[in-house]
Amino acid sequence: MRALYERAGFAWVGRSAVVHGSQAWYEMRWTPSLPEPHAVPPGVWEALQSQGVAGRRRAAGTLLLDFQNGLVDVAEKEGGGTPRNRYPLLCSNCGSLILSKGVGALTERESVQMEPPDHTHPKLAALRAPPAHIFWWLVTPSPMEFENIGFSKPVNTASEKPLKLLACAECDLGPVGWCEPGGTEFWVSCDRVSYRT
Ligand SMILES: [Zn+2]
Repeated sequence: MRALYERAGFAWVGRSAVVHGSQAWYEMRWTPSLPEPHAVPPGVWEALQSQGVAGRRRAAGTLLLDFQNGLVDVAEKEGGGTPRNRYPLLCSNCGSLILSKGVGALTERESVQMEPPDHTHPKLAALRAPPAHIFWWLVTPSPMEFENIGFSKPVNTASEKPLKLLACAECDLGPVGWCEPGGTEFWVSCDRVSYRT
């Protein structure tokens, strides 16, 4: 049977230590060929990379909905004034620092439809549609107050005037807020950033 096994890829080893019956036994060995190191099956890199993203997401702060008391937990009043952000605001995707602690004023105002309905980025919270009121971090008077932020060109939204939309300067996740072109008020959705506690 030796020739049969050799044609099937087995290599001759020699006489076996196995004793069974009256005839000698011989040992042959087949070694499976391993894939080349670079021959990574399709989809594996993607899976590894998505795990990396998940790891960064864990480092990207806490979303508002994960605080037990919601806005009460992320705002603090200093000296009886307007409540301000108790924690630095981060991009909820990559963790990039958007706004330092205490710079945004917690403000309730009408919602703004920043993107068409059903086109919200899957990593961003869906906001209630106008005229419902929602909470924002109001930043004034200039973009210099931000640590890192990106602006779109003026875009037409459901609002009366074109708006500039705010997005993460590092990974472009957005819109996280808006402003009027040339305006002095920058509105960041409390639900679309995370908080570095
Ligand atoms: Zn980002």
